[in-house]
Amino acid sequence: MKKKHYPGSNRITLCGHEATRQEYDSMLKGMQVNCNRCLILKKNTETKVLHPLV
Ligand SMILES: [Zn+2]
Repeated sequence: MKKKHYPGSNRITLCGHEATRQEYDSMLKGMQVNCNRCLILKKNTETKVLHPLV
């Protein structure tokens, strides 16, 4: 089974892998993410967003 990632910037996944345009588009649509690194990074990002002044 292929890993599903969160989208990062410039067609790179959140965990730093290159993604094809098709892969990136489906990531943007929001699907079930099963990449552990992406899940952890996303969690950290959300924590940062909740405390933008820290
Ligand atoms: Zn990932």
